[in-house]
Amino acid sequence: MANYYQKEIETASLETIKALQSERLVKQVKHVYENVEYYRNLMDEQGVKPDDIKGIEDLHKLPFLSKSDLRDAYPYGLLAVPLKDCVRIHSTSGTTGTRVVAFYTQNDIELWEDCCARAIVAVGGTKDDICQVAYGYGLFTGGFGLNGGSHKVGCLTLPMSSGNTDRQIQFMQDLNATILCCTPSYAAYIGESLHELGLTGDDNSLKYGIFGAEPWTEAMRKDIEKTLGIKAYDIYGLTETSGPGVAYECCEQTGMHINEDHFIAEIIDPDTGEVLPEGSKGELVFTSITKEAFPLLRYRTRDICVLSREKCSCGRTLIKMTKPMGRSDDMLIIRGVNVFPSQIETVLLAEGYTPNYQIEIDRINNTDTLDVNVELPPEQFSDTVKDIMEKEKALAAEMQKMLGISAKVHLVPPKTIQRSEGKAVRVVDKRKLHD
Ligand code: ADP
Ligand code: ZN
Repeated sequence: MANYYQKEIETASLETIKALQSERLVKQVKHVYENVEYYRNLMDEQGVKPDDIKGIEDLHKLPFLSKSDLRDAYPYGLLAVPLKDCVRIHSTSGTTGTRVVAFYTQNDIELWEDCCARAIVAVGGTKDDICQVAYGYGLFTGGFGLNGGSHKVGCLTLPMSSGNTDRQIQFMQDLNATILCCTPSYAAYIGESLHELGLTGDDNSLKYGIFGAEPWTEAMRKDIEKTLGIKAYDIYGLTETSGPGVAYECCEQTGMHINEDHFIAEIIDPDTGEVLPEGSKGELVFTSITKEAFPLLRYRTRDICVLSREKCSCGRTLIKMTKPMGRSDDMLIIRGVNVFPSQIETVLLAEGYTPNYQIEIDRINNTDTLDVNVELPPEQFSDTVKDIMEKEKALAAEMQKMLGISAKVHLVPPKTIQRSEGKAVRVVDKRKLHD
């Protein structure tokens, strides 16, 4: 049976959702135009006035915002309310180098926590659950977001934050945690640590995992589900739009419902900015229609995905997004070929390796080099050098098939690649050092 946290909106008809979006968009554009000089200038440059925006059909007339605007306007330039009305800030984890600071009013926090509560309820969470939040607490949005959602649902909340894996496991076991929230790479690490203690997926009380904040593959999902003995669900969000809970998976596990009463989603061609029809692959753009303090209009996420309004068996009518296939700026261009780390991960897991790997790119004699360091599964550690070389060759051949370019594979001893307690660092691009 499907459960909802705010059933009326989660199952509303398309007409209702669109009408609500239109009404909120018109109000939001006025709010931003009147209070954010930076965006008012962008609108003026484009010759658009708030009165030109009569509903969602006019959304495309508005200028985009991108991460560079956030950098230019740092720290207060996009704030839309007096600072005294703000109660908190959060900041991006800086995966791509640029830190962003976002502001929240009390109401912004309430609505954000509602979004996270929807995510918890959608996977089956209730007030009977014990929810272990192992996302980092602090400037990063993950810990506080899920903590707030867990409170709203009425779960007993374990505010563990990330790290200290022994303690995570001890609390998980002693207090019988039923839901685990963290990054997928940390979930994999916790699973690995349990395995080393001789514990299987049957030896804990966990039922569900809510994992997000970084890209992860279907193969990794299966792996985590097995080692932890749970159903693993995806959750998506970004600091610029509040944090996790912008979109979340339901029991179907086929993509994430976007909270359309708070965010309008568009897919655009990242090169031309043209809005693409539903079902097209492109860059995800969000307009926050309920945020008061930091309401970004047409914010380019650089995340590449597909939107779909196909009927979902959970009964939710909210549009779904596929797992982001990597960010447009996560995409590596190696010898002119587009490569996403997720493609490499897919090959590794399909070939029986763990998701512990690191990609190294360099430029030697004007040619890009691609090296993939992969951990040997512990049971293969005693293999002879010849066996290992053959395995490296076999893996390199599979990668060539997937990527279309050759890679050098290095099998390294178990546990030699650094584990992540937050977002994993998958790529070391040494080419930048030479620029
Ligand atoms: P940073 O840009 O520093 O990583 P955030 O911590 O706000 O800042 O991270 C937001 C980004 O994390 C998103 O734009 C997206 O690229 C990635 N992300 C978040 N959730 C997911 C998810 N479920 N799957 C894939 N990527 C995700
Ligand atoms: Zn659904």
